[in-house]
Amino acid sequence: MMKEKIVIIAELSKGGFTRATHEVISFARELGSAGALPEIIIPGKNVRGLAEEIARTSGIDVIGIEAEALDLYSAESFRSAILDILRDMNPAYVCLPHSAMGFDLAPGLAVDLGAACITAVEEIHEDEKGIYFSKSMWGGKIRAELVPMTQRVVLTVLPGAWTASAEESGPAGTVRVVKASPGLGASEITLTEALWERESELSGADVIVSAGRGIGKEENLGMIRKLAGIFSRGAVGASRSVCDLGWLGYKHQIGFTGRTVSPGLYIACGISGAIQHISGMKNSQMVIAINTDPHAPIFGIADYCIVEDLTKFIPALLELVGRGDASISS
Ligand SMILES: Cc1cc2nc3c(=O)[nH]c(=O)nc-3n(C[C@H](O)[C@H](O)[C@H](O)COP(=O)(O)OP(=O)(O)OC[C@H]3O[C@@H](n4cnc5c(N)ncnc54)[C@H](O)[C@@H]3O)c2cc1C
Repeated sequence: MMKEKIVIIAELSKGGFTRATHEVISFARELGSAGALPEIIIPGKNVRGLAEEIARTSGIDVIGIEAEALDLYSAESFRSAILDILRDMNPAYVCLPHSAMGFDLAPGLAVDLGAACITAVEEIHEDEKGIYFSKSMWGGKIRAELVPMTQRVVLTVLPGAWTASAEESGPAGTVRVVKASPGLGASEITLTEALWERESELSGADVIVSAGRGIGKEENLGMIRKLAGIFSRGAVGASRSVCDLGWLGYKHQIGFTGRTVSPGLYIACGISGAIQHISGMKNSQMVIAINTDPHAPIFGIADYCIVEDLTKFIPALLELVGRGDASISS
């Protein structure tokens, strides 16, 4: 497709690369399919081992940037450390995962580099307009095509849109580790700690009934719990929207940044079917989706599509199986 330089900014978590980083590698390979291999930058505290690992498994050249201040992510220190290297490399494309780190870092890097910033990319295209990108907007209702108007572009890649890169059997890439210049930022993060536990009853469930923002209000979780209760090994799942609203804890979240599940039956209630949600439940054996919008993306992967208001459908279903109740709210 092109021969210009492509740089990937790797993301680390718990001592290894995130899945999203491997997906960005696949994205960058497609972007540069007719040209040079991409290069990877790894910011962190001690990254030599990781740099050697990814250079070996991907065959891509790697630059590690080390500093005490890069142990925990902060936009200030990462932006400053990465920019020093990027200016020397002069890439046409800088690619990051569309994760909390990626979409925090990308706009600032784009400003510093005088680059376009295109976020949550789902597809790459090339025609007489040159190379351009597409993404979903407004909960998957709209697909937008974005053509960069600058020579440089900073891109974030939507989790789940590309398959994680597989190990390459060819020669390893080169590794260079540099020390970041001191004084990377005006503040320093000294601690991060998990505030929620990922383990939940979802692990052993045969049937998962998942609530999305379309349930409308927290009280309607009562009918979701009742529906899950019909099944002996039923459990309640949720989209991230429901967890962000505080209606359910994050241990219920299914999707790219939540749990990956593959139950016998998955019932999606008022869930639009964003790619990040689907990536966590697409291996369910059977999917039933209840949604008022006949064009909701979740219907694209559902075996049974129920175009109905869930606040009418679920109580009627509960009534039918003898679990109806005057009060279905929690
Ligand atoms: C980096 C990143 C990671 C992410 N990780 C995850 C993740 O792990 N999991 C996840 O779920 N999301 C994740 N997201 C968020 C994701 O992009 C979507 O925003 C989210 O999944 C949308 O949740 P939803 O479907 O509940 O809400 P919405 O998109 O608002 O959809 C609500 C749906 O309910 C329907 N509806 C409304 N009223 C009714 C009714 N009365 N009856 C029936 N249907 C009704 C609507 O038609 C709509 O389709 C992530 C996003 C990013 C950027």
